[in-house]
Amino acid sequence: MPITSDYHMHTPRCKHAAGPMEAYIERGIAVGLREIGFADHNPLPNGLGSNVRMEEVELDAYVADVLRLRDRYRGEIDVRLGLEVDFIEGIEPYCAEQVRRYPWDYIIGSVHYLDPACREMSWPRNYQGDIHAVYARYYALIARMAETGWVDIVAHFDVPKRSGFPATEAEWGPATAALAALARAGVGVEVNTSGFRHPELVTREPYPAPDLLREAHRLGIPISVNSDAHAPRDVGHRFDEVADVLRGMGCGALATFQQRQRRMVPL
Ligand code: ZN
Ligand code: FE
Ligand code: FE
Ligand code: ZN
Repeated sequence: MPITSDYHMHTPRCKHAAGPMEAYIERGIAVGLREIGFADHNPLPNGLGSNVRMEEVELDAYVADVLRLRDRYRGEIDVRLGLEVDFIEGIEPYCAEQVRRYPWDYIIGSVHYLDPACREMSWPRNYQGDIHAVYARYYALIARMAETGWVDIVAHFDVPKRSGFPATEAEWGPATAALAALARAGVGVEVNTSGFRHPELVTREPYPAPDLLREAHRLGIPISVNSDAHAPRDVGHRFDEVADVLRGMGCGALATFQQRQRRMVPL
């Protein structure tokens, strides 16, 4: 089976994605997907990070749009309702409530920021400090996020490599400790093909890197493959070669989600 779902679409509401939602869906149909899911960046309290996400008052309309498109495309492709939720210390109750309030098919959990004020990115540019400390703080937050109970899929698992500083041997311990936390909590991980498109990466490869993906599979962590599309042309980007890589490591099924219930489908 080819890969038939892509769960990580953004929309113009996040202010850094282009193209109408219909165009993502049409592209999904054209590349042979059976399921396509939107997971735009969630609103945060007090306008936090609002330059790269929808406003709080837009969330209802986002959900309504996805549900309307689900009806419109019924029989052609299954449209899933997701959200990419930032894990930020101190606002867990806010996010938990956001997750409770809508009929999500899945939640993608992300750590984009290392501090509650959203000033320190988890992939700092031109970083002068100790990059190993950035990786370690990042993976500690990933492990905490896994325990919240409201994450189904962890996004772009080794995203600090987007700083331009690839992981070294020192990162293996913190990264695998985070994977162990995912395995304990029954949380999945995505192969995020946006890494192929990010010029900051020293090695253009998906998130997570192959050695971490192999370890995730070894630990029994459910895997999905997502494009993290910020434009319609990104949908299903390079899925065929990822399918070959996954089969090569003995992965025979991918995780799909409906109403936050996971079902494994053959790969
Ligand atoms: Zn984005
Ligand atoms: Fe993200
Ligand atoms: Fe995303
Ligand atoms: Zn993302």
